[in-house]
Amino acid sequence: MIYLDNNSTTACDPYVQEMMFPLYSKLIGNASSIHGVGREAKCHLVNSLKIIASYFHVKESEILLTSGATEALNILIQGFLKPGHIITSTLEHLAVLEPLQRLEKRGWQVTYLSPKHGLGAILPEQVEQAIRPDTTLIVLMAANNETGIKTDIESIAHIAFGREIAFLVDGVAQLGKDPIVLFKGISAICFSGHKIHGPPGIGFAIVRKQFPFESLILGGPQQNGKRGGTENLPAIVGLASAITRLDQTLNDAILRMEMLRNRLEEGLQEICPNLIVYGKNQKRVCNTTNICFPGVEGETLLIHLDLAGIGVSHGSACSSGGLLASRVLLNMGIDQKSSLSSLRFSLSRYTTVAEIEKTIETIANLLHVALA
Ligand code: PLP
Repeated sequence: MIYLDNNSTTACDPYVQEMMFPLYSKLIGNASSIHGVGREAKCHLVNSLKIIASYFHVKESEILLTSGATEALNILIQGFLKPGHIITSTLEHLAVLEPLQRLEKRGWQVTYLSPKHGLGAILPEQVEQAIRPDTTLIVLMAANNETGIKTDIESIAHIAFGREIAFLVDGVAQLGKDPIVLFKGISAICFSGHKIHGPPGIGFAIVRKQFPFESLILGGPQQNGKRGGTENLPAIVGLASAITRLDQTLNDAILRMEMLRNRLEEGLQEICPNLIVYGKNQKRVCNTTNICFPGVEGETLLIHLDLAGIGVSHGSACSSGGLLASRVLLNMGIDQKSSLSSLRFSLSRYTTVAEIEKTIETIANLLHVALA
């Protein structure tokens, strides 16, 4: 299988597996117990937190471990303690939009910014213009998971810092594809383990002291009361191992993924000169490309690619089992027909030259023979 759907989830790195799987049979302690095996479990927890904190140059106490980015975003949005006006965008993941909609039902006011014509990210000046005297929170993604287009987080962090507004960043689509810089105005940022060749069911947020929140998950003193519940230690060790691997491989991986992503776009452009690469002239993370094949039904192309052993993604599933046009593309101002003709290819550090060449060749055959 040629897997080009790494923005959905990634294969677990063998090193990560090696570090975490033995714990399922060996590790019997609960990190909260004070006996020997409990202390051993605690040791794994503390070491893992150290690894994560040192990668991001933050304090261990600033790491909030969760079951994934969805939970981290829910805790930080629904648990945010400064009621007021919130600024976000229509391009955000549902893990941001649905908790915000719940706050709206409770009387909070939310401004949903849409990108300017032809762009795939919100501009700092749009955020600046949307700020009101009662604005307390800005929530935006660092990179879009469907297009890879990056938001100018540095400038928005600068604005947020100057106005003393909390700034929560969804960093899921950026980690592992770009160096992460925790600019001064970022008050919290969320990440996911399974998007960086770690295990599923684990994620985390870095929460700085200027982000006031109360926990949604009550039930124990774990994580200083910020998220009750026995820690998922094998997954936490797996997450820390995935971060260790990022540290060792990131620069080479970025160059490689970018080179392969560009080759894919060039190869497809040669066989389909009228295709459109969304955000081609905007800043994008290195692994993602979202391509419109005019006149071709994206869902049909996806199914043919699947039959040929190539996994890509398109739009979002609807309740009847079919595929809907991507909400993100529609909110970027792209028409329904073009959105339905688009596919997302997302690479990983394991993607090979041969896989990219095979993908180009397969699409050439499909466009010129099967779907012609
Ligand atoms: N944010 C973005 C941009 C994502 O792509 C995803 C997952 O697809 C999430 C948040 C949610 O992450 P998780 O799967 O860890 O809950």
